[in-house]
Formats: sequence, structure tokens, C-alpha cells
Amino acid sequence: MPRYNPAMLQPQRTIAELKELRELTGDADGAQRVAFTPTWVTARRWLREKLSHLPVVVHRDEAGNVWATLKGVSDKELLIGGHIDSVPNGGWLDGCLNVLAGLEVLRRIASEGTPPAVTVRLVDWCDEEGARFGRSLFGSSAVSGAFDPGELRKLKDRDGVALPDAVKPHGIDLDRATEARKELKNAAAYLELHIEQGPVLESKQLPMGAVLGTFGVERHAIKFTGQAAHSGSTPMAHRRDALGGVSKLHMAVRDIAMKHGGVCTVGKVTTEPGIVTAVVGEAEMTLDQRHLDPNVLAAMYKEARDASERIAKEEKIDVAWRKIWQIQPFPFHPDLIDMADQSIKEVCGVSHRLPSGPLHDAAEVCRAGVPTVMLFVQSLRGISHNKIEDTKEEHLEMSVRALDRLATKAMEWVTRRA
Ligand SMILES: [Zn+2]
Repeated sequence: MPRYNPAMLQPQRTIAELKELRELTGDADGAQRVAFTPTWVTARRWLREKLSHLPVVVHRDEAGNVWATLKGVSDKELLIGGHIDSVPNGGWLDGCLNVLAGLEVLRRIASEGTPPAVTVRLVDWCDEEGARFGRSLFGSSAVSGAFDPGELRKLKDRDGVALPDAVKPHGIDLDRATEARKELKNAAAYLELHIEQGPVLESKQLPMGAVLGTFGVERHAIKFTGQAAHSGSTPMAHRRDALGGVSKLHMAVRDIAMKHGGVCTVGKVTTEPGIVTAVVGEAEMTLDQRHLDPNVLAAMYKEARDASERIAKEEKIDVAWRKIWQIQPFPFHPDLIDMADQSIKEVCGVSHRLPSGPLHDAAEVCRAGVPTVMLFVQSLRGISHNKIEDTKEEHLEMSVRALDRLATKAMEWVTRRA
């Protein structure tokens, strides 16, 4: 049995380092560690300095991910991941809590003086947020294979700078980025701690939860076409009001989401001619549907389509669907979910299992076939990607302890499976 000495773990140090990073890379509007900017480079240099006090080998892969490797007895690897990049005017925890809690776990393992049973690696993923080019999970998708250099080459930032030109000074050649796949060669398990970024844990008054996986997404634009007509001269019975389709379908997809325990969101509606004195001739809505179970997600999608056709008939209008984007759900590894649940119970006394609505780097690692799990820690007010993003310090401390316990269990699990 590996020796486990939790006394060596200092979660308070993680909180102090989070504040140090906030001082160094934030301003009055929040965190400014946008990937491929000087502030991001500053944050990464600061992290390297922290790592230089540990017996780890640090290197950057072809996709710009930074890896710190603590060699173990076995070549099998336990990976702990996070992202030090932020959105503009971001919070002080999103992404960097994962990295700094992982750093503390690495310190605790290294402090034992003997090599761990398995190799342990901390990874700072490159550009998780995609804040500058609108493409998130840059570095982690390069290792999973869901990375299309041809598509990425077309992306430009707000100032017209092309992505390949922005990443080049950071040592990234787009055509070689997927060579970073080799980093997962010996990966046996992947752990990621993250703030929840939603209201579920807070509403249940729970500090932490074990994450079941990331939602799959079906995203469509739906256009209803009726007949634009004068608002005064067209009696109600004679109208073919395209907005009637949107209104009814919006209410229907809320019921569909409730029925299946998923989420459905109508985020945008546009109407033509869009004036106060005309019945709407054309109305388009977006629909974003999410669920953890691919079959249920497929059922939610089908029910929404069926509802749209029924509604179109009722309203004497036409309906057409166009796919915007889609991603499959990534369910995490059942053994690791159990271990995550157990670790949380040991630290917090109580746990909860929940899916993740947002995508995370963990989804890409999971896609690559590495057994994966995440821990969520409560977000105050459920707010993130904003400078008011916050978590109680006692909960942050618990999250570092739970990640450490999970790492210990996962190392034993990896050893047993080898
Ligand atoms: Zn994040």
C-alpha cells in the first residue's frame, strides 16, 4: 500500500497561491489570462517557477500544453489537469483552481520522498476557454484527435489576427499540434477538479459533487414560415403567424426538457419583417438541447421535431430545421465516479452525483479513451466567467483534500489494473 500522509497537504497554500495569481494576472475587472496573450505567458511563467521546487520534469508539447511529470515506479500515468487561461474579465477560480490543487497534490506525493507507485503528471491545457478565437478546448482536443487544423486555420480574432499567427510565437505549429497525442500513450486515469459554475450544489447546500460526465448537445436553428400581413386588416382567423410556431415550440421544449431531466434552451429569436404593424412572416429560433444519455438526447430531439411539425400544422405555417452543432455525451468511468464519490464523502461527510452542462478538457481526455472523472466544488450564486465568481474558502480547502484522496485511490486502482 502506498503511504498516505495527508498531513503533508496544505490546502491553505492553494488558496494563498490562487490569490497570488489573481494579484499577478487580474485587474479591477477580473482575471485577464486569455490564452496567447502576455498575461497568460506571465501566469505560465509563474506556474513554472512553482514547479521548479518539485522533483518533476516540465515540458511543453506540440499543442502548447504544459506537462509536469513526477516519475513513478510504474510507467502507467495518473493525469491531473486544469487550465490556467481565463476568459477576459474572468473569475479567480475557473481553471486555475484545478491546476493549483493539482500542484498541491503533486507536492504532497513528492514530499513522501520515495517514487509513487505510478507516474503522476500535472497538465496545464492550452487555451481551454477559446476566448480569443471562439474555439474552446484547443490543447486537449489536439491530444484527443478532435482537432482540425484546416478549420482552425480559418479563425481570426477581433483584430483580424489569424490563429496560426497568434499561436506561432508560443511555439505552436498548427500542422504539428496533433503530435501531442503521444502524451496520452501511458495515461491510465485522468482527474480534474473544477468549480461547478452552476447553482445545483449551492441549492442543495452541498460543498462538492462527483461528476457523471459531460452533456451531449444538439443545437439547431428552426425556421417557421407563414405570411407577413397587415396588423390591422388581417382578422385573427386568417393569419399565418410564423411567431406562433416559435411561441408554441418554446413552451413545448420546456416540457420536453422537464420530462426527460435534460435542458432545452431557446436563446435567440428573430422575426421578419420585425415591425410593430405586421404579422410575422418568418420567425427563426435557436434550440440547444443537452442530456447525459445519448438515447434520451435523441428522444428529446425527436420529440422537439415532432412537436414543431404538429405546431406548424395547427398554425398553417411551414417549418424547417438546420443543424448548427452537435457533440455526443461523454460519460465518465464508473469506478472513478465511485472513488470520487467516496473521496468527497470522506472529506465533506456527504456527496452528490451530477452531470456537467459545460464542456471541459476532461471531455476530450474521455473522448481519447482515458478513464476520466471530475470533481465539482460549489460555486456561490452559480456564477462563473465573471469577476464575482467565488467559492467559500472552506469549500476550496475541502476540494483540495478531496482531489488528493481521489488521486491516492486512483493510483491504487491504476496499479491494480496494470
Ligand atoms: Zn474551466
